Amino acid sequence: MVKETGYYDLLGVRPSASFDEIKRAFRRLALKYHPDKNPSAGDKFKQISKAHEVLSDKIKRELYDHGGESAVKGGNVNDGCSADTAMGSLFNLFFGGKTRACGRAGRGKSVTHKLSVTLEDLYNGTTRKLSLQKNMICPKCKGCGARQDAVTKCAKCHGSGMEVHYLGHIPGVMHSIQTMCSECQGQGECIRPRDRCHGCNGRKVTRQKKILTVHIDKGMKSGQNIIFHNEGDQAPGLEPGDIVIILEQKSHPIFQRKIHDLLMKMEIELADALCGCKQFVKTLDGRTLLVTSQAGAVIKPGDTKCIPNEGMPIYRSPFEKGNLIVQFQVRFPDPGWIPRENLPQLHNFLPSRTEPITSDVTEEVVLSDFDPYEDYKQRCRQEVYEEDEEHPWQQIPCQTS
Ligand SMILES: [Zn+2]
Ligand SMILES: [Zn+2]
Repeated sequence: MVKETGYYDLLGVRPSASFDEIKRAFRRLALKYHPDKNPSAGDKFKQISKAHEVLSDKIKRELYDHGGESAVKGGNVNDGCSADTAMGSLFNLFFGGKTRACGRAGRGKSVTHKLSVTLEDLYNGTTRKLSLQKNMICPKCKGCGARQDAVTKCAKCHGSGMEVHYLGHIPGVMHSIQTMCSECQGQGECIRPRDRCHGCNGRKVTRQKKILTVHIDKGMKSGQNIIFHNEGDQAPGLEPGDIVIILEQKSHPIFQRKIHDLLMKMEIELADALCGCKQFVKTLDGRTLLVTSQAGAVIKPGDTKCIPNEGMPIYRSPFEKGNLIVQFQVRFPDPGWIPRENLPQLHNFLPSRTEPITSDVTEEVVLSDFDPYEDYKQRCRQEVYEEDEEHPWQQIPCQTS
């Protein structure tokens, strides 16, 4: 007997169907409901694909038959490592969710924490103290949960912590599966309430505060992990997992990091762009650089220049550094900045230009300011007005944003 027949019904086969029958049924339906052929079928293709994915896989089908759709979907073993969900459930069934699919068996969960750092922290290196709570073996009972002689073996599982369920005979598939013992929750032992340790109330572990000192080395980058081995939660009989600190860099108002290089924007005056510039830059370690361009060098808007060795220190070889890359923006003067009569003088200094030759048929036009947004709004208003003329009862508001 299977628990649910939903997936079988989707494919239109009996629960006793062979793998070949399932494959054929899926092919026939896939041709019919493929979104390219039948766009109106909605999620039907997805549903039959899911049913086929489960029923064509020996282990997943076994799980589905035994526990229904929830057994295939469940499972929370994969934190970070992408075990598929069906395998997750299988591990839960076998190990009662105590052992994780990834990582060594008999090991507690690794815990990750994010640590927000500044670009200055990553440039100069720093030390941070991190306070966190973790489970530690109860010092009073040393992880027994009671006096040594008050702990008795679980009568239901005889101390194994596992129950065995027989599934009957299915050819080519395992005939029984194990789950965590429901009596002792997989502990394999029972403690009478009055014998429980007062330190941990029989839980064997206590919650304690732990201070970690995190060393952030010069040149570390956002997303980098710092691992504290075996500093995770302690549990009796389990090797503790790790605490993993993930660095997360806050954005910087001036510098942007690109691997080993630092990028910055620098706004200079038109005069500096034409005659050479001098600008101060405050570095991430608090020094002041005077950045100069050679006299006579022309800097155009958008030009990039580089200052070697003023980028980020390289992790584990902090005396080497990347480059500081400067992207220039040029500030142009406002209209009317120079009296009209001085314009010819300015022309004399600027590169020569060719004067256009006019004739009788040339029409001279003068440029005026243009704001595309204002222009759009204007035209919109006009259109509404015209609509109103035709259908005075219909007020169509103008979408201006
Ligand atoms: Zn205790
Ligand atoms: Zn038990």
